[in-house]
Amino acid sequence: MAETVFDKIIRKEIPADIVYEDEQTLAFKDINPQAPTHVLVIPKKQIETIADINESDAPLIGQLFTTAAQIAENLGLAEDGYRLVINHGERGGQTVQHLHIHILGGRAMTWPPG
Ligand code: 5GP
Repeated sequence: MAETVFDKIIRKEIPADIVYEDEQTLAFKDINPQAPTHVLVIPKKQIETIADINESDAPLIGQLFTTAAQIAENLGLAEDGYRLVINHGERGGQTVQHLHIHILGGRAMTWPPG
């Protein structure tokens, strides 16, 4: 499995603006924000894409979502609303092959997305 820049962020080999960390998960600000608040929530386990999630990952995936919701709450996004995004594949716009949830907030989101 190929290493990504997120593995280097997990190991603190390159800097990131970390907003949350525990044994299983890490959350940090996106380097190229698409909204006033743009945070990425990732598992420390190397899972490349949403298609690579196994049954045994269910607790970890649950934790990723509860962590994302808690971070959104802590960042003051919950009342006005926010968007969680997982991109997959070329058409989905996935550029980093390490599973991540985007938390986007601080502005109104459009629907359908671009
Ligand atoms: P994707 O396009 O795969 O859904 O999202 C990858 C995200 O990772 C992009 O929004 C991109 O800006 C962000 N990203 C890529 N490299 C880095 C980095 O080195 N540091 C941070 N903080 N974000 C990154």
